[in-house]
Amino acid sequence: MGGAGEFWVKLWGVRGTVPCPGPSTRRFGGNTACVEIRCGPHRLVFDAGTGLRVLGNAMAASEGGRHDAHLFLTHTHLDHVLGLPFFKPAYQPGNCFELWAGHLRRAGRSLQEVLCRLMESPYFPVPLDIMHACIAFHDFDAGDVLEPIPGVRVQTAALRHPGGATGYRVDYGGRSICYVTDTEHPEHGHDPAVLALIEGAQIVIYDATYTDAEMVRFRGWGHSTWEEGVRLCEAAGAGRLVTFHHDPERDDTELDLIDALLGDRFPGSLVGREGMVLEP
Ligand SMILES: [Zn+2]
Ligand SMILES: [Zn+2]
Repeated sequence: MGGAGEFWVKLWGVRGTVPCPGPSTRRFGGNTACVEIRCGPHRLVFDAGTGLRVLGNAMAASEGGRHDAHLFLTHTHLDHVLGLPFFKPAYQPGNCFELWAGHLRRAGRSLQEVLCRLMESPYFPVPLDIMHACIAFHDFDAGDVLEPIPGVRVQTAALRHPGGATGYRVDYGGRSICYVTDTEHPEHGHDPAVLALIEGAQIVIYDATYTDAEMVRFRGWGHSTWEEGVRLCEAAGAGRLVTFHHDPERDDTELDLIDALLGDRFPGSLVGREGMVLEP
């Protein structure tokens, strides 16, 4: 595990909606949402899309002994949970995982109940309780401030998405990384909750499913644009935008084009790519 002051983020899956492997998405990647944030020796994971399977395989291959992690879900749409049944370390006795979600309690649901249904027959061959790692479930209300580990502060905010979603900000050692996906910006002005969440952050990973030009056709779908990501970061004094939740129809050539436009418009910013590691 890493040193005490180490703080970085790795993108394991950057797609939204549905996995889209194939030659046209090979460079940016076809796995759905999964982001790892390392705070010294502690591992935080955000979303359990199909990128989580790849992270789990890397954990199983590279490190002996026990694995602990906190896994925070933005919400439980399939593209954000589909990797969970294929996360090998969850089946290993001795490992410990704490799962968190902020969109269910207000709706009278619980994360444990919702994830049990995901692995229920006839959708999956074995039930959730066959996972032999120690697994704890935590429901909170988006907007709460969490401290899952002493010294690691996790701020949360309710996002504008069908069924609700939660945005996150991780503060560690005086630096901040934000993970804000599955959210639709208002037609006029910015979402004040997002603006407050990302204030002064070094890295902002943000929902860029669409472009501003496409957005007119997709109002109400609960997603945003790379251009809105830039405007938000500028308004909030944030350092660097990393676009995320790419539309599965967006091929590598289009993402290269957006990457170039983004770099001109807000230097230091990048289109999120599977396998990318960034330090704030
Ligand atoms: Zn999504
Ligand atoms: Zn969603």
